[in-house]
Amino acid sequence: MKIETHIREIIKEIDPNNDGLDKTPARISKSYDEFFSGYKTDVSQIANTFYDSEMNDWVILKNIPFESHCEHHMVPIVGVSHIGYIPNGKIIGASKLARIVDCFAHRLQLQERMTMEIGKTLELVLNTQKVGVHIEAEHFCISHRGVKKHGAKFITMYFSQELKSELRKEFLTIVAA
Ligand SMILES: [Zn+2]
Repeated sequence: MKIETHIREIIKEIDPNNDGLDKTPARISKSYDEFFSGYKTDVSQIANTFYDSEMNDWVILKNIPFESHCEHHMVPIVGVSHIGYIPNGKIIGASKLARIVDCFAHRLQLQERMTMEIGKTLELVLNTQKVGVHIEAEHFCISHRGVKKHGAKFITMYFSQELKSELRKEFLTIVAA
């Protein structure tokens, strides 16, 4: 209700005489519940089921689409993420990996921070120091305003500090294939 009230004030500044906008504040408020649902999501609730595994090589979920919003302009960030880890005794369901991405994407974000948050979360919940995250995204604040560079892709990566350079290269080769 509070967001709805404030949006109504903003809309009055933009277009004070348009009846068609009457229900817009309620719609925007509802959209925000969805866009920013990550603040209500506890990552430990998502990552709560594990399976024992002797797997000792990359487990990767690639091409995970996501939508976020930049914290500087509150406009969309639309991209694709690839996340992987080398297990240290336990694995997690693949869908949970995608939900971890959404948990952080559905907040006001900086892509750099989001990349690190996902990486550090995987290290923590999977108790492994072998994690890779690669995110490639278009930022509407770059493509639709200001410099207006359509199609410019912002790329960020996170690797666990202990991850050797051959394994980093291997991860990048797999996600780029
Ligand atoms: Zn921005």
